[in-house]
Amino acid sequence: MDILVGIVEAFVNFVYPPTCMTCWRDLRRGEFFICTKCWDSFERVSRTETIIQAIERKFLIDETVDKIDAVFLFEQDPRVRAAVHLLKYGGAERIADKFGLFIAKKIVDDTKLSMCDILAPVPLHPARKRERGYNQSELIAERLSNELQVRHEPDLLRRVRHTQSQTMFDAEGRKRNIAGAFSIADRFLGEVKGKKILLVDDVITTGSTIKECAGVLRVNGASEVYGAAAAVTI
Ligand SMILES: [Zn+2]
Repeated sequence: MDILVGIVEAFVNFVYPPTCMTCWRDLRRGEFFICTKCWDSFERVSRTETIIQAIERKFLIDETVDKIDAVFLFEQDPRVRAAVHLLKYGGAERIADKFGLFIAKKIVDDTKLSMCDILAPVPLHPARKRERGYNQSELIAERLSNELQVRHEPDLLRRVRHTQSQTMFDAEGRKRNIAGAFSIADRFLGEVKGKKILLVDDVITTGSTIKECAGVLRVNGASEVYGAAAAVTI
């Protein structure tokens, strides 16, 4: 079956060479959906800019998250939004792989984020995961875990309550909508005590989701909780 799929793909690629979804140039071998040039030119969060300070002020204000980082700017670059959209709704698992790699490159020299004990993705509700076929944050965390050689526990957190899409709410509404949505899976109870945990998400918007997850980990004894995402809204 795989051979057949390969033959069909080769034929389709011959007739319609795949092009970059953001600049429409032909993709090279090993490039998928987005060309290397575009990936490298996406708007980024830089440590030297005040952007990162703004993000940190916004997220660390109540001290549930000890440190946070993200690679791309979600609002400022429509191409970043297109990549995230593709990741969520286009079944593009290769985008998750790329995001995981970019996060790894960015945080590899950060002694806090890269030296954590456990990586845990922000979970989807099981019904949502079945519908989509995958949890995009889990795919990102998988690649990140391989790069950093840190233990990945995709089932550490569970989404116990089905919440409405966060996009419908303002900051205060998002906080209310997500409150009490997460818990630690029974088999991990007691396992997070004294551990440094890095939460992984695709996009951080108001931070209410990651803060809610961090709160659950803290109540269960995590010593430090960090956050890392492919993109951030500031
Ligand atoms: Zn391109």
